[in-house]
Amino acid sequence: MKTICVASPSPASGLAPARRAAPSEPLAVLAARAACALEQSVERFVRASDQNLGHLEVQAAQDIQALLGHATERAAQAKADATPPVCPICSQPLTRLSPDHGRTFDTRFGAITVQRTRGYCKRCRKWRTPADAALGLEDTAGYSPGVQAMAALLASKMPVQDASLVLEHLTGVKLPRATLDREARRQGQRAQRLRTQLDQQAAAKPKQLELTLEPYQMIIQLDAWNIRERDDWGQSAALRRRGQEPERWHWVYTGTCFRLDHRGQTAGGRPVITERGFVATRQGLDALREQLHAEALRRGLGQAAGALVLGDGAVWIWRLADDRWPQARQRLDFYHAVQHLAAVGRTLFGEDKTRFRAWLKPLVKQLKHESAVKVIRQLDEVLARLPAGSAAEAVAKEVAYFHEHQDRMDYRAARRAGEPIGSGPVEATCRQTQCRFKRPGQFWSRHGDEALLCLEMFWRNDRWHLLFPHTSFDPARN
Ligand SMILES: [Zn+2]
Repeated sequence: MKTICVASPSPASGLAPARRAAPSEPLAVLAARAACALEQSVERFVRASDQNLGHLEVQAAQDIQALLGHATERAAQAKADATPPVCPICSQPLTRLSPDHGRTFDTRFGAITVQRTRGYCKRCRKWRTPADAALGLEDTAGYSPGVQAMAALLASKMPVQDASLVLEHLTGVKLPRATLDREARRQGQRAQRLRTQLDQQAAAKPKQLELTLEPYQMIIQLDAWNIRERDDWGQSAALRRRGQEPERWHWVYTGTCFRLDHRGQTAGGRPVITERGFVATRQGLDALREQLHAEALRRGLGQAAGALVLGDGAVWIWRLADDRWPQARQRLDFYHAVQHLAAVGRTLFGEDKTRFRAWLKPLVKQLKHESAVKVIRQLDEVLARLPAGSAAEAVAKEVAYFHEHQDRMDYRAARRAGEPIGSGPVEATCRQTQCRFKRPGQFWSRHGDEALLCLEMFWRNDRWHLLFPHTSFDPARN
């Protein structure tokens, strides 16, 4: 059945339906206008031979934009009016109230203006605007929570110049590059404060998981990668004259943890970890240690039958493990062990690939399926036969490596127990994070990169809704 739209733009306001109408009109009238505009759009769309459904999708969103903007503005105003004049921080009634402080900010549906009441909190000794807290506006930011979340997500996923364009392309929200950058960093700093709080809670009162029928092992993996930072913009020449480089590489310490019984396979046979915690920080080893410990507690370390730390040969990994999880077993990444075996082989056989392979293959097999002790014994014999010189020195270094990590090479037992022998998952995490943080020509500031890393970890750990509660809100159940 064909419906005919009889409503027309109000002559008094003189505004076209898609544009902002006089705010005094009831929403029902605005809705009728939007419906009218939609019907006209549909008719045009049906006639237009050069438009596919995508064109209508763009047009329809545009037709209802003003209605949504008005509804949002009125809702915000009504909520502001209904907010009691008490301090949002300490709940003390505010004094010296003054109404009608206008604030304009961008939302998903365009800019809106809200009048709020301000008051003085004697306890905090600060001026407060309770409506801002009720609406989820930050003290200084000019954006609604919806836009804050979008800026934060996009900036943690892609360079800000792309983020700004993608945001406008997908949502119509215009945030210039510098503004988006600032907003995302502000959200990242908020995420860091929340992370500290959550970590303290996890350490103080480890989460009680449901009773598990089978005892499980907690797997903890550590690694690091570096990031290029530069803080002193515009001072490169001056710094170089003083013999300092304006940029520096800085370690981003990364960790991941998961329960061994949360490891499985996809239908296609690809290994997957169903629940996994992630940590990445450039604030040093102490920060990594405490963040990863809190993450492991959240993932069930407190109730684990045991814990296993996996990593490459880096000294800091084992020191940190001894320090934080002294009871945990330690295992050297199998692939790194093989690389060190190969280094010995290259020293012995140089370019002779055939002899190199013939020597290496049985050793790798023994290391994996038999015992490290057996392999080390053969390496010792190789070393004993070498005449003094550079080759002997190189081999001695590798042999020392094997002796040092001997107890961390229990690969046969690991395979029998169905435990991982490699630190692939944490290495994959490093690679993925680096894709965002190490693009050509990119520099990070000391504070900026931690903020964005923190946002990325909230996303990966499935904790985005703790930062932006509306993102887990289901309107169908409201
Ligand atoms: Zn207060």
